[in-house]
Amino acid sequence: MSGVGKGTAAASIGQILQAHGLEVTSIKIDPYINVDAGTMNPTEHGEVFVLDDGMECDQDMGNYERFLNRDLTRANYMTTGSIYQSVINKERNLEYGGHCVEVVPHIPLEVISRIRNAGRKSKADIVITEIGGTVGEYQNILFLEAIRILKLKEPDSVLIVLVSFLPALGDDSELKTKPTQYAAKSLNSAGLHPDIILARAQVPLDRKRKEKIAFNCSVPEENVISAPNVKTIYDIPMNFRKENIDKIIFKTLKLKPNKERNHEWAKLVRRIKNAEKKVKIGIVGKYFTTGKFMLADSYISVIEAIKHATYSLNAIPEIEWLNAEEFEQNKRHLKKLGDFDGIIIPGGFGARGIEGKIAAIKYCRVNKIPLFGLCYGMQLSAVEFARDVAGLKGANTTEVNSNTKYPVIDILPEQKKKMEEKDYGGSMRLGSYPAHLKAGTIARAAYGKELIHERHRHRYEVNPEFIHRLEKKGLVFSGIGKDRRLMEILELPRNIHPFFLGTQFHPEFKSRPLAPHPLFVEFIKAAISD
Ligand code: GLN
Repeated sequence: MSGVGKGTAAASIGQILQAHGLEVTSIKIDPYINVDAGTMNPTEHGEVFVLDDGMECDQDMGNYERFLNRDLTRANYMTTGSIYQSVINKERNLEYGGHCVEVVPHIPLEVISRIRNAGRKSKADIVITEIGGTVGEYQNILFLEAIRILKLKEPDSVLIVLVSFLPALGDDSELKTKPTQYAAKSLNSAGLHPDIILARAQVPLDRKRKEKIAFNCSVPEENVISAPNVKTIYDIPMNFRKENIDKIIFKTLKLKPNKERNHEWAKLVRRIKNAEKKVKIGIVGKYFTTGKFMLADSYISVIEAIKHATYSLNAIPEIEWLNAEEFEQNKRHLKKLGDFDGIIIPGGFGARGIEGKIAAIKYCRVNKIPLFGLCYGMQLSAVEFARDVAGLKGANTTEVNSNTKYPVIDILPEQKKKMEEKDYGGSMRLGSYPAHLKAGTIARAAYGKELIHERHRHRYEVNPEFIHRLEKKGLVFSGIGKDRRLMEILELPRNIHPFFLGTQFHPEFKSRPLAPHPLFVEFIKAAISD
């Protein structure tokens, strides 16, 4: 089921195999009809992750990139919608040579061809394919069918892992194996048999439970892997290794890999476990609530990027959610911001909570609290600066007020046309673009180079007509697009503020545990020393 940790499990298995010198790539299959994740509300499906090539996909893709330390492409992601779309396009192009095109076998065959293609493209020895959803439901049945056909064609090169959850009613009560038994049976009825069962539970599995699962699901006992909750997800590969998952995989797939070299990762986990110093970071956002639940998933890459940077400085972050709308309702609540070492204003869309975010930015600017604005956070920092420092009263982004006298943030010219044509699915500037960094700035010092490439997902930009007025009042545009005058980074000089910086791009998408993002590191450094 969702949220049980399939993505992290898949990514962790990849990490271990990679440490043995194998080339690994990952594919995520999402069973929904949406062609990509771009049109989904983050409270419903979590963060929309963006790849270099502009693909908008599921947050699990971020996990893969972080664990594998590899850039993935659109070849690594598919949804039911995208599969049907390609099959229909091929049919229209007469690529099926006059045959009747049917759900089976044409849909599963398209899935298989994409799995092979992703493997070929990255010259992978191993392709880890994660099938989203729950075994036994209608939605993913054609993907299971694809795996059945693939296994039939190449029995020795397909290995199936079932990730299952073992519930317990109380803290000390017995872990229940029945749902796992039923899940294995459902998988059997799809013509598949699990080679490995990953047993997710609050606590480690005891011998008895392993025996029970092995006996009832027809797998060797050593192939039942205990996957308890952990303090840091980066410890999961280590835990799986202790259960010898690598040896089981090599034996089943008849592989003879190199000796494992996982020192860097082990060092990272040790550093996380030994860190004592705490850094308190607040995230002012709005995509946290679905009913009664807080959905940290909406900002998962931001959270991970904070962690990577903080760990690299031998500290651990304490992250707290701050609801932007609360600051709108009661300005006195802004004082809360003073309790934090640093504040992040993440990306977002629309008018809700905007004035709260702007008030938070002002509070951080005036009170010299380190502030990092990501995409919308950067745009709103420009609006705040325009209103309060440059004296442009009522300045705004046209996303919120199209009649503002001072449209400091305005729609990108190339996106305007698409919006007018209601082409919302393609109306954003997406993916990796280069930018040049100005000498003598915080950004340039952090990156240590002049040319950078970062990932984008936005429709609006700093309006070029206002650049001069903002610069005159002390705002520095330290990163500028390569192709045209697009403001990619803004900052205040160090002698004015310890860290006031915003990026039009999303640095969080490129942060990795073994390669923390330089701007996040710089932000956390400022937060620690503040
Ligand atoms: N809403 C803003 C835009 O479309 C910012 C988008 C974002 O934060 N990802 O430009």
